Amino acid sequence: MVKKINTVLMDVGPLISIDGVVIHNDAGSGSPERYVNWLAGRNKDLGIAHYYITKDCIARVIDTNLIGYHTGRWPSNQRYIGYEVCQSMSASDADFLANEDMTLMQAAEDLLFYGLPINGNTVRLHHEFVSTSCPHRSMALHGNSTESVKQYFIDRIKYFASLGTTVDEMLAKQGQQPVDVAKTQQEEEGEEIMLMVRSKSGKQGYVGLVNGSAFGIGYIETVSTFMKAGAKEVTLPDDDFNRLIESQKIDEKTLVSINEISKKISSQNAEKTK
Ligand SMILES: [Zn+2]
Repeated sequence: MVKKINTVLMDVGPLISIDGVVIHNDAGSGSPERYVNWLAGRNKDLGIAHYYITKDCIARVIDTNLIGYHTGRWPSNQRYIGYEVCQSMSASDADFLANEDMTLMQAAEDLLFYGLPINGNTVRLHHEFVSTSCPHRSMALHGNSTESVKQYFIDRIKYFASLGTTVDEMLAKQGQQPVDVAKTQQEEEGEEIMLMVRSKSGKQGYVGLVNGSAFGIGYIETVSTFMKAGAKEVTLPDDDFNRLIESQKIDEKTLVSINEISKKISSQNAEKTK
């Protein structure tokens, strides 16, 4: 069972309203226990969130109804609860995802506790408030865009909220592969995110992104098929487009998946028109 530390390292007054959660990555390698000790003797003006979390420990250092210094802006500090996913510079992908999951479970518990919906207004990223690479590791793992990371967090938090109202209940209900379970659930709900991405010059053709999976597109008809099915077209500068291709390791093998996805979309549309 996960270790919990509850302490109050700062009280500069209550939040003026509780609008949601802001997910951060710590850009460090400390455990929650270390952060608690380190923050206790540190000038809080330099930054302090409400929670410091790994898969093994949830440390709450500010009560969730009190102001934290984590968004870099006073209006949002007065309205949001901050969560640091720890060890973003040192954990393996698997460990970081587990640390992130524990964080999202705590966020789910708090959103439920305050009776808030789970959506793009209540689930926020640090860089929505100020220019920062935070949450850098989550960005790298979940599609590298504000939209893709938020959608991943929202889907994951909804999944955890479906398991129970507290972290302990959520943990008790979870199977061996919670990440896979969440993916399956997302597919069942049919909440596809479809983007047809092209480069500005148009030289490189199109890449399709469906729920975070990328694939090269071989036929222009595929683009129009996707657009008819509700996909949005996005144009990226050539450099970024090339980086996308590079990061996704798109090659001819991925072209095979176009047919599968097309089939899925047409059957989904058939479903909708019933
Ligand atoms: Zn941050």
